[in-house]
Amino acid sequence: MDFELTQEQRVIQETAAKFVKDELAPIAAELDRTKDREKLKSILKRLADLGFMGINVDRKYGGTGAGSVAFSLAMTELGRGCASTTVTTSVTNMVAEVIQVVGTEQLREKYIPPLCNGAFAAGGFALTEAVAGSDPAAMRMSAVLDGDHWVLNGNKIFISSAEFAGVFVVWAVTDKEARKGKGISCFLVEPSFPGFRVGKEEKKLGQLASPTNEVIFDNCRVPKENVLGVLNDGFRIAAAELAGGRIGIGSLSLGIGLAAMDFARDFVKERISVDAASVNQQANQGLIANNYTRLAGARLALLRAAFLKEQKLYYAKEASMAKVYATEAANRACHDAMIIIGDYGYTDGCPVERYYRDVRVTSIYEGTSEIQRLIIARELLR
Ligand SMILES: Cc1cc2nc3c(=O)[nH]c(=O)nc-3n(C[C@H](O)[C@H](O)[C@H](O)COP(=O)(O)OP(=O)(O)OC[C@H]3O[C@@H](n4cnc5c(N)ncnc54)[C@H](O)[C@@H]3O)c2cc1C
Repeated sequence: MDFELTQEQRVIQETAAKFVKDELAPIAAELDRTKDREKLKSILKRLADLGFMGINVDRKYGGTGAGSVAFSLAMTELGRGCASTTVTTSVTNMVAEVIQVVGTEQLREKYIPPLCNGAFAAGGFALTEAVAGSDPAAMRMSAVLDGDHWVLNGNKIFISSAEFAGVFVVWAVTDKEARKGKGISCFLVEPSFPGFRVGKEEKKLGQLASPTNEVIFDNCRVPKENVLGVLNDGFRIAAAELAGGRIGIGSLSLGIGLAAMDFARDFVKERISVDAASVNQQANQGLIANNYTRLAGARLALLRAAFLKEQKLYYAKEASMAKVYATEAANRACHDAMIIIGDYGYTDGCPVERYYRDVRVTSIYEGTSEIQRLIIARELLR
């Protein structure tokens, strides 16, 4: 075992940390308040220029080719600065990766470079429907072949970055007679395709700078060559993509938890220097020690899952374990940071208020904690 990062992994981690300190953290509160899309897009372009949009994607398609461990490290550092920006970055990485893994050479050459170089502001991942959240195989959206196009009909909901994504990975039922989960296919859809429309935006608790919308497919015509992977085998692509995505979301949550605890620790340090006999001191020490310990465990679990993925070993169980552990540890860290800080932590002048709102969804999207536990138990009881 070697816990040392490679030179490349260290550079990526340090570059992300510097970007957060100099550019992202200073505007995160404003982005959250104003939901300024143009500012978000300019930040996403900067991240693309720095190589953060295709971290685990081959250089020949414009990626950084640095692997899954580097991806996890980057998402954690960026997550310390702005969760909205980081989730957009994580999903865009996911989209670029899945095209590389299962796309034809033609699709790879067409869609991966603009995802990596920022020509597309982001990538979209459209799986969830009103009747198909935790159970995506229950989806109703249909795709029917008509000449050299597939015609998609149905609605996806809660789609991140739908407003400005340059390409979407979309799932639809292509064989209604097949057993549940078997007749589903995966498509690459551009927002300019006829019949594609972005619907209402959700009003959310947190991650306010990252828009979440309904997406409507009304006889949306998708060229035949935009089928991603094997026809009727798209559910497997969703499962594989989500496993990788969970490393991204877990890593993002770790960043939020660390940011909350760092703020609380510095707050306590200042208090101690002013009032050394503070009655809260020991209780606060316990909270700080417990939370940093849990977050350290979360980091190891995430890096292990990322390492297994990078080695092309089985990693789905480990990714679920890492996601459930990291997101719950991060939720706890934000909660406890507010205990340590007190009233000020509950005001919008304190970044912990934003971390507290932003962290909650990390244990909902890309599979809730309950679903992660089901996946883990299913593997253990197999
Ligand atoms: C801000 C945000 C952004 C999102 N972005 C995207 C996106 O870009 N693309 C996309 O496709 N989706 C996206 N989603 C959707 C997200 O993936 C789903 O919300 C998530 O998978 C859970 O589905 P659901 O909300 O429909 O909950 P449901 O499936 O309705 O579940 C409700 C509750 O029941 C529990 N539950 C369900 N089934 C079981 C079971 N078998 N055993 C035990 N408990 C169970 C769940 O854990 C949950 O607590 C986003 C959601 C949010 C909130």
